[in-house]
Amino acid sequence: MEHFKLRLAASHMLAPAVRHLAFERDDGQPFAFVPGQFIQVHFHYADGKPTKRSYSVGTVGDGSGAVQRLEIAVSYVEGGAATALLSGLEEGDTVDASGPYGRFCLMDADANARYLLVATGTGVTPYRAMLPLIRRLTATRGCTFALVYGARTEVELLYGEEFEAFAREVPGFTFHPCFSRVPRAEPRPHDRNGRVQVALAELVPNAATDIAYLCGNPDMVDQSFAMLKEAGLAVPQIRREKYVSSR
Ligand SMILES: Cc1cc2nc3c(=O)[nH]c(=O)nc-3n(C[C@H](O)[C@H](O)[C@H](O)COP(=O)(O)OP(=O)(O)OC[C@H]3O[C@@H](n4cnc5c(N)ncnc54)[C@H](O)[C@@H]3O)c2cc1C
Repeated sequence: MEHFKLRLAASHMLAPAVRHLAFERDDGQPFAFVPGQFIQVHFHYADGKPTKRSYSVGTVGDGSGAVQRLEIAVSYVEGGAATALLSGLEEGDTVDASGPYGRFCLMDADANARYLLVATGTGVTPYRAMLPLIRRLTATRGCTFALVYGARTEVELLYGEEFEAFAREVPGFTFHPCFSRVPRAEPRPHDRNGRVQVALAELVPNAATDIAYLCGNPDMVDQSFAMLKEAGLAVPQIRREKYVSSR
């Protein structure tokens, strides 16, 4: 774990209230991480009190274990302190950061046949970073991956076209977008209307074959966890990352 300054190199809006930020380390060093890990951004409240917030790394790397650009997706929260900082950053501005942290990662020791990857909102970013590893594991271990991704509406489906393209390219990977409020204007074959639990139930979770990863909204994580346990998965087969504020 290291402390470093990050300089904003590029950014764009992924959805009306979600910003993709691509940083480079100010010292020019590459950033080493394992897909699934997160960084912390350190800053001060107006009264001078130090604080920090966590953000999953979403960069699709080349498999070398280090990247030049550290990409995150920030979902704006009304009145949020980090939201104010990260929504106002301009290219060239810097922030203090540390990392990488976390163990929400694919593990070498696993020998399961299928992974169920479940996310809502920006909780899909760790899976984006895992794509090169997913490609490798489907080829070397012959396991499959089903990404179940919940968004309220089509415009809030982050990186949707990237996941669709990856699913067309990698036979062992399927993408299951779930729209909880408004269905897609032109629905696609894997679309589901409703919460992620709808698609998850259709995939028939099975303790003999599956390991599940759950990331994003804490309520979704808790509900999916309960459902998977009910289906017979043991706690070590269900890995969780809850996006709670770390104030
Ligand atoms: C391991 C980990 C990884 C994370 N990764 C990401 C990520 O990749 N992208 C991302 O956008 N966030 C991520 N988060 C959440 C992030 O760290 C912040 O909590 C979030 O950005 C809000 O911070 P803020 O300072 O803007 O709001 P705060 O000042 O912390 O909160 C302002 C108000 O909004 C409420 N609030 C906080 N979060 C939410 C929310 N999600 N929805 C509704 N109300 C909320 C608070 O209770 C408070 O009332 C992650 C959290 C963890 C623990």
